[in-house]
Amino acid sequence: MKRQISETLFDDLGFRMSYEAARILYETQTEHQHLVLFEHRFFGKMLMLDGATQVTSRDEFIYHEMMTHVPILAHGRAKEVLIVGGGDCGIAEEVLKHKSVERLTQVEIDASVVEFSKEHFPEFTRPVLADKRFDLVIDDGMKYVAKIAAKTDRRFDVIIVDSTDPQGPGKVLFSSKFYAACRRALRKGGVMVTQNGVPLFQSQELRSGVRKFRTLFADGTCYIAAIPTYIGGHMAMGWATDNTRLRRLPVATIAARYKAAGRFPTKYWTPEVHVAAFALPRFIADVVAKAQSR
Ligand code: SAM
Repeated sequence: MKRQISETLFDDLGFRMSYEAARILYETQTEHQHLVLFEHRFFGKMLMLDGATQVTSRDEFIYHEMMTHVPILAHGRAKEVLIVGGGDCGIAEEVLKHKSVERLTQVEIDASVVEFSKEHFPEFTRPVLADKRFDLVIDDGMKYVAKIAAKTDRRFDVIIVDSTDPQGPGKVLFSSKFYAACRRALRKGGVMVTQNGVPLFQSQELRSGVRKFRTLFADGTCYIAAIPTYIGGHMAMGWATDNTRLRRLPVATIAARYKAAGRFPTKYWTPEVHVAAFALPRFIADVVAKAQSR
């Protein structure tokens, strides 16, 4: 009898998504969280942390491309990029497709997630770890960003918060003090994007996130994409910046920047999808509007 592995993230909503594991590739309780990697006959390799799906081989490209190319091409001159979390290095692999990026730092709390990704997600880790622009820091993202902002003059053009959900070690990455530290660590006109849950099931997470963005930045909202294994339809990616023009750039401008960036291959992101991602369905636009604190 093959083992059923369930996503327990929405137990409080009274449902679970279960997957029949063809093979368990790796399972352990790390210092920070429960980690299981298994083979699924349709989704391929699936990583779950504390009962929440993190990445699957089948649909990783959607989230990784949208969390990366949207902020970097909207910014237009991103040289210094920070990833908070990002364990499996799927986001880092996309960031390094941008030749304009001169330095990429990833701060990840759990070394074992990166260690095991070297063996099980070489498609991400191999190009990333071989790239001289990349440096990995094992630390709590809250502590690291606060340290950078307070003790160094290093500043980032783009900060990508590829975190777990607001539980366990990931909880602090949804706090006002973390977003405030990110704002201090951003260069003028810089942009921060965050993993902000699926609004249909996690509307409170989105509302409180956008409210916090708006107390700190001139522009706070989200953009969306549908990621099949992030159950719930649209996934919201938080958007925070003082440059209110960045998310209103026309398709032609984004297309020209993509061309200048060498038109690297993508499977989801296009200039049109980029611009359309900020057009929010009414129920999500209402959640964002209600977050209006200013
Ligand atoms: N894309 C996934 C999602 O949307 O659920 C997240 C992928 S990535 C695997 C999430 C990473 O965030 C994990 O490797 C986890 O260890 C890391 N993480 C959680 N809390 C953290 C913290 N406080 N500081 C740095 N990294 C953290």
